[in-house]
Amino acid sequence: MAFKSGRHFLQIPGPSNVPDRVLRAIDMPTMDHRGPDFADLGKTVLSGMQSVFQTSGPVVIYPASGTGAWEAAIVNTLSPGDKVLMAETGQFAALWCAMAKRLRLEVEVIPNDWRHGVDPAEVEARLAADRAHTIKAVMVVHNETSTGVTSRIPEVRAAIDRTGHPALFMVDTISSLASVEYRHEAWGVDVTVAGSQKGLMLPPGLSFNAISAKALEANKTAAMPRSYWDWQEMMANNQNGYFPYTPATNLLYGLREALAMLHEEGLDNVFARHARHAAAARAAVRAWGLDILCQDPREYSNVLTAVVMPDGFDADALRKVILERYDMSLGTGLAKLKGRVFRIGHLGDFNDLTLMGTLAGVEMGLYDAGVPHRQGGVAAAMDVLANRSAKAARAA
Ligand SMILES: *Cc1c(COP(=O)(O)O)cnc(C)c1O
Repeated sequence: MAFKSGRHFLQIPGPSNVPDRVLRAIDMPTMDHRGPDFADLGKTVLSGMQSVFQTSGPVVIYPASGTGAWEAAIVNTLSPGDKVLMAETGQFAALWCAMAKRLRLEVEVIPNDWRHGVDPAEVEARLAADRAHTIKAVMVVHNETSTGVTSRIPEVRAAIDRTGHPALFMVDTISSLASVEYRHEAWGVDVTVAGSQKGLMLPPGLSFNAISAKALEANKTAAMPRSYWDWQEMMANNQNGYFPYTPATNLLYGLREALAMLHEEGLDNVFARHARHAAAARAAVRAWGLDILCQDPREYSNVLTAVVMPDGFDADALRKVILERYDMSLGTGLAKLKGRVFRIGHLGDFNDLTLMGTLAGVEMGLYDAGVPHRQGGVAAAMDVLANRSAKAARAA
C-alpha cells in the first residue's frame, strides 16, 4: 500500500483515537504482576475507575473486550431460567439480548424502532404487570452506539422505583462512560458495564463492572456457572491491588494515564466538550439537509451522530470514497442499518479542529460521491464552535 502522509482520521465511534500520552504510558517494560510495584498501579486504577463511574462501591477490571463484561454482569447476578427485561434499542442491545438467551435467561424484549431510547413508561408498565416479581433484572444500553441515541437512565430508574419492583438494574455504558454524564451510585444502578476503547481513550482490551451492594447480595445466590468472570475472586485479590490472574499490565499503565488526563481536564469539562462537539456535528448534518437517525432531541448522543442517507444512496459507498480520498474511517451502519446510515464518532481525545477536519472530510466526500446535499455544513459547525451565532447554537 502506498505511503499516506498525515494522520489517519479514526472517526468511528470506538475504538477511538488513543492520545500520545497514553501510547507513551503503555510503552513500558511489562512488570511482575505479583511483585511489590504492581499493587500501587492496581490500587490507583481501581480507585480512579470508581471516580469515573462515580461510585464508592467495588469496580472490577477484566482483560477482555466489553462483551466479556456483559457476560460478567449476567453470570455474577442471575441464575439459568431467570427472566430479564431488555429494551432492543439497537444492535448492541440486540447482541446483549442474544447473549442473555444463550446463557439460558428468559428475555422479555421491549421492541424499539432504533431511533429512540428506552421508554421509561414502557419499563414501568412491564414491571407493574409483573406482580409476582418474576423479572430479575432490567438491562439497558445507555448510549446505543449503533444509532446515536442516549437513553435517559435516571428516568428509567425513577420508573422502576415507582413500581416498587425489586429487579436489578444493569446498564451498558461501554460507549458513554467518560464521554457523557453517568453516575453509577446516585442513579441507583446495580451493575454498570464499560470498556476501554471508547470514552476512556485506550486501545481495546479492558472492560469493567461497577457493582452495587444489592448486586453483591444477588451474587451470593446467583447460580450461573462462572469462573473467569467471578467477582469474589477478583475482589478478594483487588483488596491488596492484585488480580487473580495475569492482568493486561501495559493497558493498565495506559489506564492510569487516561484517568490522570480525565481528572486534569475535569469530568464535567469532558462532558461539556462532548456536548459542544455533538451540537456542532448536528448543525452540520442539518445544514447538509440530511437526517439525524435519533428522533428525540432529549436523546441525542454526544458520542456519535448517525446520519441517514438519502434514498437510493449507499452509506458504505460514501464511506469508501472518504476512506480512499481523505484517509478517514467513519462508522458503518450495523445490522438493519447497513448501507442506510453512516456514523460520525466525536468522542474521546478530540478537539474543535479534529471535529472540523472530520466534518470537512464528510462534506467533501458527499460531494465526491454525488450524494445530494447542500454545502455549508462545515460553516454551520464553525458557527456553533466559534459561537458566532447564538441562534445556530440554540438550534443545535
Ligand atoms: C462497543 C460496544 C459494545 C461491544 O464492546 P466490545 O468491546 O466490542 O466487546 C457493547 N455495547 C456498546 C454500547 C458498545 O458501544
